[in-house]
Amino acid sequence: MVVIMEVGAGKRQIDDVIARIRSLGYDVHVSEGRERVVIGVIGNERPPDPEPLSLMAGVRDVVRVSSPFKIAGRDYHPEDTTVRVGGTEVGGGELSIIAGPCSVESRDQIVETAFAVREAGATALRGGAFKPRSSPYSFQGLGEEGLRYLAEARERTGLPVITEVMDPQAVPLVASYADVLQIGARNMQNYALLTAVGDSQRPVLLKRGMSATIEELLMSAEYILSRGNMRVMLCERGIRTFETYTRNTFDINAIPVLKRITHLPVIADPSHGVGKREFVGAVALAAAAAGADGLILEVHMDPENARSDGRQSLDPRDFAALVRRLSLVAQAVGKRVSTMAEPVRA
Ligand code: PEP
Ligand code: MN
Repeated sequence: MVVIMEVGAGKRQIDDVIARIRSLGYDVHVSEGRERVVIGVIGNERPPDPEPLSLMAGVRDVVRVSSPFKIAGRDYHPEDTTVRVGGTEVGGGELSIIAGPCSVESRDQIVETAFAVREAGATALRGGAFKPRSSPYSFQGLGEEGLRYLAEARERTGLPVITEVMDPQAVPLVASYADVLQIGARNMQNYALLTAVGDSQRPVLLKRGMSATIEELLMSAEYILSRGNMRVMLCERGIRTFETYTRNTFDINAIPVLKRITHLPVIADPSHGVGKREFVGAVALAAAAAGADGLILEVHMDPENARSDGRQSLDPRDFAALVRRLSLVAQAVGKRVSTMAEPVRA
């Protein structure tokens, strides 16, 4: 059971609720987010009667939760959560398209790509400045310089930007440039990082670890949510299986499963999910048909010469053609591709 306090509930009200729970013989877990406090009621016995607690001053809701993911589950929040990213809502019944290169490589590259993906219908720009590479000898990203170029691309195109943050100390820096903080697959269980992005109160795109179960993904989301940051989007990006023909195995099952058990928006990443550009379109269309709220796609002006993930990157022409096909699939499942409210003309 969790007790959700009102935004702005006072310390006195919170202490009273905690004292009441303890007096009933339960322990508490208090999550103090910047916006609101959530009190978990812990104990092996049956949970207490919610009624008296729900009548206490400062309490917004008392929710019985049987799943281990308390706040991410639909028990806690039956309606779909939407996350505002720039001028659009992700998860509000439309199909959002996030696109851009794997890595920010130069100012011209990211600005040019931003215009190209916007023209084709993307409503957010992706690009890594801090890259989690399997080899320490591979390109590690431009760091803060890359963040500055992303911010410039946002200024010029109006597209909000999403970029990865890899360690807790870097959260304030990355948050000062980015609209959405990406947690990469390799960091899905970096709990200090999850707590830090939770405290940042920024929208977060949480990618599924390459060997993580759906439940583990949701428990990681719980770390962010339990800090009071409800702006979490989940991302299926392929898991590791015995198959080696493709880079990963995109778990299409995860899309309808997540849509059923959690209220958080679900984004599909077919680029990493399959790893070869000739298959990215088919997997993207399948993910849209399966109910994804959005797609994140790697697009490069010159994929053959990309500094990372060129093999799975689409060029702007193929990307534009894919967006047209995605709009047909979106229509078939009762959605439409999200568009920017007021495109900025530059
Ligand atoms: C990426 O988005 O470029 C990336 C590194 O993704 P993942 O963490 O899913 O491997
Ligand atoms: Mn990549």
